[in-house]
Amino acid sequence: MIFKYICNTCGKQYNPDTSRFRCNCGGLLDITKTNFKFSKRDILTSEWSLFRYINALPFEEHFGMWRDISMGEGLSPLVTFDKDFPNLIVKVDYMMPTLSFKDRGAAVLISKAKELGVKKVIQDSSGNAGTSIAAYAARAGMTCDIYVPENTSAKKVNQIAYHGANVHLIEGTREDTAEAALEAVERGDGFYASHVYNPFFYEGTKTFVYEIFEQLNGNMPDTLIIPTGNGTLLLGVYYGLKELFAMDMIDRIPKIIAVQSENCAPIYKAFKEDKTTVDATIVNAGTLAEGIAISCPKRGKQILEAIRDTDGDVILAPENKIVETRKYLAKKGFYVEPTTAATFAAFFEYYNKSDKTRNETFIIPFCGAGLKV
Ligand SMILES: *Cc1c(COP(=O)(O)O)cnc(C)c1O
Ligand SMILES: [Zn+2]
Repeated sequence: MIFKYICNTCGKQYNPDTSRFRCNCGGLLDITKTNFKFSKRDILTSEWSLFRYINALPFEEHFGMWRDISMGEGLSPLVTFDKDFPNLIVKVDYMMPTLSFKDRGAAVLISKAKELGVKKVIQDSSGNAGTSIAAYAARAGMTCDIYVPENTSAKKVNQIAYHGANVHLIEGTREDTAEAALEAVERGDGFYASHVYNPFFYEGTKTFVYEIFEQLNGNMPDTLIIPTGNGTLLLGVYYGLKELFAMDMIDRIPKIIAVQSENCAPIYKAFKEDKTTVDATIVNAGTLAEGIAISCPKRGKQILEAIRDTDGDVILAPENKIVETRKYLAKKGFYVEPTTAATFAAFFEYYNKSDKTRNETFIIPFCGAGLKV
């Protein structure tokens, strides 16, 4: 496989290196692959982590350092939610080393950084992505600087600091934090291990559907319900599905239904208004679903394309149902983050709205563990 960065705006291509995190034109980078072939036989069936799909991931041939970095992330359980609800399957993606699905992206991104010879990484996050990058950077022996908004919960800040990262608390909004990290990167302080900018993160999150392919023997459900803030899971899922389809491993692409918070819904708004880009003036009105409260997702255009291409939809999480849904899920055995409860609450409303959904099969991820907050 030959792979390069490709600009999502102008199409210019670059070899991945340690300093580039966007195109000269300012556009975001994706990964383009040539001579990419993958089949069931290419899965390393004796490897019990997401690196069993290493042959579908853009690493140099014979790259083996992931073995020292992996913590067995991935291969999360796929379980029927309830015997009375057999067409709903849950992928318990909080069963990860740092208790959120972000470990998928971090494991692959940090392994890639290792391959490129990176010694120091910089990232900005308000929570789970920062924890993941801090943990994997520690594992890879890299120095790590994480920028977080000043009001980030002490629990999350502590976890990041325990992994040995330098935590920079930034005054102001989430955007101010991103700006501070960007300035550090531009000063040459380190490699930008951003889950938003760096497309290798999405190569990690795509393993979510590679696993479903194996777990369900190639029989994809009708619909995937995906919480969406910056869209790192949604886009990874979409890229993964496109690859599996192109390789004839699945015979149809499920619908992707994105879930947004009703108090911060830029993707929802653009989708319903038939727009191709996201309105930059939306503000986060405050929500318990912090994990999806991104007022201006940088990859908004791509997220909208992905949803439309799968004939999907965008639904809203009712704010006043988050707490009770969290309790409901805990009574079923699943203790989840409020953001995950919000995702489920949105799904529930959608499911109950129409009879058509009765015969549909769904997969919903449980993205973050309840102990996190
Ligand atoms: C990050 C995160 C999300 C949203 O993912 P995006 O990549 O921002 O779309 C949802 N739930 C949890 C628990 C998360 O950590
Ligand atoms: Zn460009």
